[in-house]
Amino acid sequence: MNRLIVVSNRLPFALDSTGEDLWTVTPAVGGLVSAIEPVLRDRGGTWIGWPGIAGKIPEEPFAQATRNAGYKIVPVALSETERDEFYYGYSNEVIWPLFHDLQNFCNFDPAYWQAYKQVNVRFADAIARSARPDDFIWVHDYHLMYVAQALRERGVSQDLSRLTFFLHIPFPPYDIFAKLPQQQRLLRALLQFDLLGFQTRRDVRNFLQCVRRVMSDAKVVPRRELQLIRFEKREIRVGHFPIGIDFNSFENSARSDAVEQRAQRLRVTFPGCQLILGSDRLDYSKGIPERLRAFRTALELHSELRGHVVLIQIVVPSRVEIPKYHEFKQRIDRLVGDINGRFSTSTWLPVQYHFRSLDRDDLLAHYRGSDIAFVTPLKDGMNLVAKEYCACRIEQDGVLILSQFAGAAEQLKPDALLVNPYDIEQMADAILKAFQMSQAERSARMKRMRRVVRKENVFLWVNSFLKAGAKLGARAERLVRRRQVGVAP
Ligand code: UDP
Repeated sequence: MNRLIVVSNRLPFALDSTGEDLWTVTPAVGGLVSAIEPVLRDRGGTWIGWPGIAGKIPEEPFAQATRNAGYKIVPVALSETERDEFYYGYSNEVIWPLFHDLQNFCNFDPAYWQAYKQVNVRFADAIARSARPDDFIWVHDYHLMYVAQALRERGVSQDLSRLTFFLHIPFPPYDIFAKLPQQQRLLRALLQFDLLGFQTRRDVRNFLQCVRRVMSDAKVVPRRELQLIRFEKREIRVGHFPIGIDFNSFENSARSDAVEQRAQRLRVTFPGCQLILGSDRLDYSKGIPERLRAFRTALELHSELRGHVVLIQIVVPSRVEIPKYHEFKQRIDRLVGDINGRFSTSTWLPVQYHFRSLDRDDLLAHYRGSDIAFVTPLKDGMNLVAKEYCACRIEQDGVLILSQFAGAAEQLKPDALLVNPYDIEQMADAILKAFQMSQAERSARMKRMRRVVRKENVFLWVNSFLKAGAKLGARAERLVRRRQVGVAP
């Protein structure tokens, strides 16, 4: 089994300074880390990434944070300017909005691209120092799309046969991607990987469409499973690998007494009301204002909902350093104020709004305690909240209202109530439909969704990706052996 080198912008923990020589280490929680860590320990390997602080990485706190990891952790340092131009700039002001089809939010500052390349080269250098020729290199996400090109420019990747990439966010259709000033350079860079993984069939379709339109010297060969692209005498495989969650861990924690008690407390706080849950990072791609407007319209149009539903909206602070995010929060605050000002009574407040993150038990209690989850991103790579909600519905009930533009819709569409987040009236109708849905229908739908989420979990995701990559490696090794004994490939 080949060693695994995982490369991502962020490491599985973040360092933060709380004063001179005082440091905190916050472990990243979530399915990705818990799925990848056991594989790293098992196969042996390395995780390369940025520990989340600009400037020099403090040696002793870093050594302490990584001592018991069970695998090697290699930090990549970013200066403040690099953090601003590579991370906040190109990654989050160009790629993030454009790939979520929100071109009006883009800031195509030319300096950002230079910083993006420069930092990707830094990551490539770290890989080159750590990797052996037969390592399996798995690069993650939109911050690092130039890494394979940087490796090949250094001549390093000649004997690395497994150079793979997974994009966690969506890939946009050609008409939107074409707005990117670096469209050709970025596609060329992506085609330097040997395996490209996307979340959904939609993303694969969009990517292949862009390759066909932009890269005249690339040839797309349709295949039943992994698609094939021939480019510069190389073969690149492309597939969809929908990311899942650690279903059992969510289900077991949702059964715990602590979560049960908190869920119960939540329910008794709002007697006679169905609870509708929205839970998102503060991000304009999540469709939070659209959701609030739909809730307002539902209350306007359907008087039977008044006094009988509560929308609990959790907004987790995120990227608040970017001015657009700050303005965006003010928009949400105003909408919540408007709805509560217009509809509340002395005994009922329609929107419960929390601008903070919840600890895990509290989040799970919200999943367990809410009758309806209202998940309405304008576009989303997958959306794990939708899957986590299903995993926590241990009584096999609850309704999921889900945006048709979330990656999760491809797997959950027969049983979730699918909505177009731009269609406020349709979303308002979906609220009424969820509110009125019989227990029998809720249960039938939720059982089927839980089956999908349980089966297509995060471990299946890791395994299918590694298996697809291993096949490439085996093929490449056969070719090398054949060349060595002088057989034509
Ligand atoms: N989450 C969290 N604390 C909260 C609310 C959400 O840790 O208070 C987690 C949630 O469990 C989920 C993640 O944040 O795993 C959000 O993932 P998703 O794919 O829905 O969206 P993203 O934020 O990655 O775009």
